[in-house]
Amino acid sequence: MVSLMPAFEDKKVVVTGATRGIGRAIAELFLAHGATVFGVYAGNHMAAESMAADNVRHGTRLQLSRLDVTDYQAVAAYFAKLEEEQDTLDILVNNAGIRRDAVLALMKEEDWRNVIDVNLTGSFNMSRLALPLMLKQKYGRIIFITSPMSYLGFAGQANYAASKAGQIGLMKSLAKEVAKRKITVNCVSPGFIRTGFIADLPEEQVKSYKKMVPANRFGTPDEVADAVLFLAGDRSAYINGAVLEVTGGL
Ligand code: NAP
Repeated sequence: MVSLMPAFEDKKVVVTGATRGIGRAIAELFLAHGATVFGVYAGNHMAAESMAADNVRHGTRLQLSRLDVTDYQAVAAYFAKLEEEQDTLDILVNNAGIRRDAVLALMKEEDWRNVIDVNLTGSFNMSRLALPLMLKQKYGRIIFITSPMSYLGFAGQANYAASKAGQIGLMKSLAKEVAKRKITVNCVSPGFIRTGFIADLPEEQVKSYKKMVPANRFGTPDEVADAVLFLAGDRSAYINGAVLEVTGGL
């Protein structure tokens, strides 16, 4: 019988922002499918400890590290160690992201820079330094978690929308560069997903956002993780340079 879900035994996966929200759901789904997951996070140790405790049954198949994706030298050191210990890498999920909302007329320069640094430059740093490990084995999957805000735009989110549009440009170009090496590069684009990322939204705003979604509800991190695993599997080898929306029809 043909299995529709890809198997990830023997696959090594790096997930950024792996200890909360969407990243945690992605990391845990890979673990459930037999992969070894190297998860990184910015600095919330409590969330990391809680995730480690909940996944202790997976033993050394889950390895969590603090790593600021904006720090090119730190990312280089992280991948040098990974290469020394693991030799190659199969899958990279660029999920770490932040938002610092303000209308452009009032946006602080540091809020522009920080959002671009984490969401876009962080994706560059991770992809740039993971690539040699994939090129070596002529196999790989790189998946960016972008957002429909990248092309819809949203008042108060010029920095976030620009960073997410930038990820799509990066993904499209890289997909063309590495296709011959059997490396695919794609985006998953979630709509409104219930995580800490949007927990600060006032209830009235949540209601009005929900009305925008044809499915009339927010999505779950698990629904995003399913799309990521699909793109990460061997059965999606001919999907390259694509944006897969998980938005309830937004
Ligand atoms: P979240 O719950 O706020 O989690 C964000 C994760 O990113 C955390 O693990 C955080 O680490 C990590 N992170 C932040 N800055 C980092 C840095 N400089 N280096 C390394 N890790 C860093 O967010 P989420 O909702 O799961 O969102 C995940 C991704 O989905 C983001 O790219 C976001 O833009 C995208 N997205 C989310 C939604 C949504 O509605 N939730 C919709 C569309 C797209 P710490 O825990 O240590 O802070």
